[in-house]
Amino acid sequence: MPDLPLSPATRLVAGGRPAHQPGASLNAPVELTSTYVAGAPVNYARVDNPTWRAFEDVLGELEGGSALAYASGMAAISAALALAPVGAVVVAPHHAYNGTGALLAELAEQGVVQVRRVDIADTDEVLAALDGAALLWTESPTNPMLEIADLPTLFAAARERGVVSVCDNTFSTPLLQRPLELGADVVVHSVTKFLSGHSDVLLGAAVTADDGLRERLHTHRTLRGAIPGPMETWLALRGLRTLHLRLERSCANAAVLAERLREHPAVERVRYPGTGAIVAIEPVGGRAAAERVEQVVRVWTPATSLGGVESLLERRRRHPAEPPTVPEQLVRLSVGVEDVEDLWRDLDRALSD
Ligand SMILES: *Cc1c(COP(=O)(O)O)cnc(C)c1O
Repeated sequence: MPDLPLSPATRLVAGGRPAHQPGASLNAPVELTSTYVAGAPVNYARVDNPTWRAFEDVLGELEGGSALAYASGMAAISAALALAPVGAVVVAPHHAYNGTGALLAELAEQGVVQVRRVDIADTDEVLAALDGAALLWTESPTNPMLEIADLPTLFAAARERGVVSVCDNTFSTPLLQRPLELGADVVVHSVTKFLSGHSDVLLGAAVTADDGLRERLHTHRTLRGAIPGPMETWLALRGLRTLHLRLERSCANAAVLAERLREHPAVERVRYPGTGAIVAIEPVGGRAAAERVEQVVRVWTPATSLGGVESLLERRRRHPAEPPTVPEQLVRLSVGVEDVEDLWRDLDRALSD
């Protein structure tokens, strides 16, 4: 990557490529090998892989740190949570991603950590919970309630108290929010979502600008073995090349839909933080109305997950692990890159049905 002040769009396209030489491949190859000829620092492919590095270089540049790829978002989240010593207190939002919530509950039950759940949008409550904690987990916006945290204040307070702060940046991507610049120690991603963008691969990542934390995360990945396949990583990098284009369209579509949904007589409440491609609605008529929307849409697909080119929607409480404070009728919309009028007509018809 040339040492120039490049914008994120250019970094997405130009990063992680082999050096320009006559005859060189334009793209980083898929390196399918389990071992390397002896004599170099890396001798086994659980430690490192050139295809991972191509992906990690691009994501690291965008987030402003050094990235590590993992087998899934949950693998990256497990590695980041393991930065808290055994028995330590972890402060986490009530409405974090439900896999993160379930993992924290299991770790607490096993006595690995103590968990203090907080309303992440209530800065005073989070600050009060930080005393004596070892790790602060943040998501902003949260999944699926779309609550917004005052991240710079929380990260600064964590740093003052020697608390490691982690931000799950899956919903925003580094194009909308760069938590390391806001003071976070570690960023984690479900690369499965917007970064890869085509709902065809599971992958995760952790990014940090702190060499000591990077070393610990890398050791965790190597010894626990939560490594991604080179093919999956290559697919994620291929998807990442167009993140700026996909996100621009998805966000523009989401803004139009959120505005119209606010006026829709069959919609009681719209949650939309004014940015991003995720909107949550509560149809009039409770759970049955929400289930009806899932059943009758034709352009939208009723499915879990988010961040792909195709629009998905889902009544989140159909998952038993979703906290009961998430309304029964809340339908999360992951807005894709289709024509916005087609998306609107389908949703409008499903709501009015
Ligand atoms: C999907 C998701 C995860 C989990 O990632 P996987 O790739 O499915 O393991 C974590 N955090 C958020 C915010 C997510 O949406």
